[in-house]
Amino acid sequence: MDCIFCKIVEGTIPSKKVFENEHVIAFHDIQPAANVHTLIIPKKHIADMNGVEEADLFLIGEIHRAAQQIAREQGVSESGYRLVNNCGKDSGQVVFHLHYHLLGGEKLGALNS
Ligand code: C5P
Repeated sequence: MDCIFCKIVEGTIPSKKVFENEHVIAFHDIQPAANVHTLIIPKKHIADMNGVEEADLFLIGEIHRAAQQIAREQGVSESGYRLVNNCGKDSGQVVFHLHYHLLGGEKLGALNS
């Protein structure tokens, strides 16, 4: 399968990793949209939120636990941060491997701005 994030999981494409456990990895986004911009992904290939099945639900918890730790380590746990998932083309999703953007380190714009 030609998936860029699967290649990051395998290590065949480099990334600046900030977190890894058995199920999840996280790395700095190559085109940061905020001072802190980390991508958190399951190691398992799931194309998008619509592809999350019952047996995958624990991965969403794993991702949230990773987000808490990364936010602490990146120094945004207290100041605040946003966890964003894009699903499908109207959302702007361009990489079809489930991922969550952790954004922070500055005052983020309102969702309706
Ligand atoms: O949610 P969406 O699919 O639009 O986001 C994909 C993100 O993956 C982009 O922010 C892009 O900068 C990032 N990316 C990356 N490393 C790559 C390819 C894409 O951080 N090698």
